[in-house]
Amino acid sequence: MDEFLKSAPQLCQSMIKTAANAITCIDTHEQESQEILNDLRINLEKYCRNIEKHKKINELSEEILEVPEENRASLLDNFCENINSFEPNVVNSEYLKEFDDRVAALMKNSGQQTNNDDSVSAGDELQIAQNNINLICPISKSKMTEPMQNKICGHVYDKSSVVSLLEMSQNTRCPIVGCSNRQYLSLQHLKCDIVTQMCVETNNE
Ligand SMILES: [Zn+2]
Repeated sequence: MDEFLKSAPQLCQSMIKTAANAITCIDTHEQESQEILNDLRINLEKYCRNIEKHKKINELSEEILEVPEENRASLLDNFCENINSFEPNVVNSEYLKEFDDRVAALMKNSGQQTNNDDSVSAGDELQIAQNNINLICPISKSKMTEPMQNKICGHVYDKSSVVSLLEMSQNTRCPIVGCSNRQYLSLQHLKCDIVTQMCVETNNE
């Protein structure tokens, strides 16, 4: 994978972090934070489109390289045209989805209403409720200091709790009751849960 695509998750995470800041720090100026959120969403969407274009360029380049050199001319002629006419659909982008989910959860947590609340379906509402931010570690039952999300099942726990579980046994599965993740816990499966982290920090102030 090239550098541009490698940096995508980080950039998206930092946009979510900015959104979280806008919600938690500017909640007295609702309109201002709403404007920031709208701008971020527009930029993230553009960025997601660029990611898809980038993937398309890589794909087309690989196709061209598979063709013997003497036959490449016509393919190269079409190359730019193909790229320019490519209109990626990013509605289902994982990054946009994560952004929307996180913003909805933060809004709910801070008592603000999202713009499109009227159009929220029952399913979405359930999703948002599930995303409501919990600052208590389900393992240690105390307030988290370094919330981490399991990338496989999505459960969130404090890093230190996972470390102590792993110290007791390497063959430990996600400790959340009913979790269908059958893989053993590993720090490599955990990513920093930025939004919960922000809430922990705001909560400490
Ligand atoms: Zn789990």
